[in-house]
Amino acid sequence: MKHFDVIVIGGGHAGVEAAAISARLGAETMLITLRLAGIGVMSCNPAIGGLGKGHLVREIDAMDGLMGMAADQAGIQFRLLNRRKGPAVQGPRAQTDRKLYQNAIQAMIGQEDLITTLEAEVARLIVTNGRAIGVVLSDASEVFARSIVLTAGTFLNGIMHIGDQKQPGGRVGDKPSVRLADQLIDLGLMRGRLKTGTPPRLDGRTIDWHKLERQAGDDEPVLFSFLNAKPFAAQVSCGITHTNERTHDIVRNNIDKSAMYGGYIEGVGPRYCPSIEDKVIRFSDKNSHQVFLEPEGLDDDTVYPNGISTSLPANIQEDYVRSIVGLESAKIMQSGYAIEYDYFDPRGLTTSLELRALPGLFLAGQINGTTGYEEAAAQGLVAGLSAAHNALGRAAIKFSRSSSYIGVMLDDLTARGVTEPYRMFTSRAEYRLALRADNADQRLTTLGLEIGCIRVKREKAFKAKMAGLIGATSQLKAVSFTPKALEAAGIKVSKDGTLHNAWSLLAFPDVSIEQVINLVPEFRNFDLSIHQQVARDALYAPYLARQEKDITMLAREENTIIPDDFHYIGMAGLSTELTAKLCHYKPISMAAAAQIEGMTPAALTLILAQIRKQQRGMSA
Ligand code: FAD
Repeated sequence: MKHFDVIVIGGGHAGVEAAAISARLGAETMLITLRLAGIGVMSCNPAIGGLGKGHLVREIDAMDGLMGMAADQAGIQFRLLNRRKGPAVQGPRAQTDRKLYQNAIQAMIGQEDLITTLEAEVARLIVTNGRAIGVVLSDASEVFARSIVLTAGTFLNGIMHIGDQKQPGGRVGDKPSVRLADQLIDLGLMRGRLKTGTPPRLDGRTIDWHKLERQAGDDEPVLFSFLNAKPFAAQVSCGITHTNERTHDIVRNNIDKSAMYGGYIEGVGPRYCPSIEDKVIRFSDKNSHQVFLEPEGLDDDTVYPNGISTSLPANIQEDYVRSIVGLESAKIMQSGYAIEYDYFDPRGLTTSLELRALPGLFLAGQINGTTGYEEAAAQGLVAGLSAAHNALGRAAIKFSRSSSYIGVMLDDLTARGVTEPYRMFTSRAEYRLALRADNADQRLTTLGLEIGCIRVKREKAFKAKMAGLIGATSQLKAVSFTPKALEAAGIKVSKDGTLHNAWSLLAFPDVSIEQVINLVPEFRNFDLSIHQQVARDALYAPYLARQEKDITMLAREENTIIPDDFHYIGMAGLSTELTAKLCHYKPISMAAAAQIEGMTPAALTLILAQIRKQQRGMSA
């Protein structure tokens, strides 16, 4: 009989992070997955990061996880999104080489002595006295563990759709997991159906690249891992093209043949990742949509056309693809498809991702109603950590909303649940000015060191960085200047006699690091990366104080009643998504509004201001 501390089921993005952190914490871990060669596969687009998602990758990295390191090794185009906006909403993103990414993940898993991998199907969980204590494989053999992490992704009762053709499957080329899904349903868990889709893959040799606009990566690439400074692989450009009226006509004229629109699918799809059918029907006022042509790898001719996912029949896919400039002769290597799968209501989980109905079983990834590699990986990290702590008799660890996007996601999922595939956005985090991608290590690596999941290389790098930040900050805070002295140095401040320390000057939008070095020459002794980080921390310090005030104010106003006839439509600053949800739910109080999925403190502040305005208008 085989015994482990932790069993992880699934070798996708959640599963590998779960197994890796479990092993880093010292737990004997077994990773069981349907195909060992499929460990670390990217089921959809070969890209990592973005707004909100890039923050999650940085947080995973801060805990010494795998995703950031693998994305850096595989990155063939790095772009920092929102570069012109403030650091709080900038998100690192990389286009990756699919094979290099998978190789990097598999190599990191292979290096962990405490991970044993097994290619097998888990058919059933073994439950004794109301606890999950092991698994039965499809060959009837058994494996036991103190904790089990289930990360079955889109495989539970997965059905793939192309037009009116449907086929059971977890993703193209993989069988679904039906027995395991049925057992979870028998446990009385609340099940739902979700769907997602993928575009047809094109043969890059048949694309007319000369006709297309190109998009290169950043001149100064920003990597994911705090341990890396430069890309590892050669860098490439993407192509950009657009759908047109003809494309839309083809889609519109064949809409009843689409699995999604022909009534063949019951699951709810990700609104933020609309298919070409959604774009044509839901955004019918637009006559063109951008399509990014992303190479899937350096020695791979496959191209991922980002923006035209579909469940139309294969011949219609060919027609609409060929209506697009540059793709007139494009050959489809693999048709696009939609997939429908089971998820389980994450409100049945604790914030450690342990199933309340079955202690000892932890769920992570798409099975919890999320979408995306990064969301899955971040949950995998939490579930693996929690499972290892449970197995090793250590206390549970809490990630709070105020210290991480991971905490925001755990709270959103377990308290609010999902009505559509959950994806991370910076707008979900009320503390987003504090939760920046640039300071993820400052927020989380100390926790990682305390619990023991940080390896020596990162520990050394982190301690050196923190010594630099603390040293530089206290050096700058120790010297203050009069307005006159600052004026002489070319820095304008109001002449009210207030002394300004050199650190606070970095929060002024037009004060450069070079000007501060001129005032405090010893500051030059620190690295450029320390200069930049001290400047970011100083820039956000005043906002953080204001943010705290807003949060206290909203907590105080929880019982404020929202009038029945309150008008959300047309409120400046309120997103279309939240406007629709508020109109639908008509919350009776600020507390009820705060419970709406996707609600943000900024939106609550707007609603409150509007209520006050209406009250003033009535009393005037
Ligand atoms: P997965 O990566 O799916 O991994 C599941 C793992 O579980 C696999 O290794 C599988 O072998 C294993 N497994 C399942 N059942 C068993 C069993 N019984 N025994 C042993 N092992 C088992 N995300 C986006 O952000 N944007 C998109 O546009 C997008 N499109 C997608 C399109 C498609 C067609 C698919 C399939 C997914 C798409 N996704 C998209 C979602 C993204 O792929 C997932 O969010 C992410 O891969 C989830 O990671 P995971 O670890 O939860 O599951």
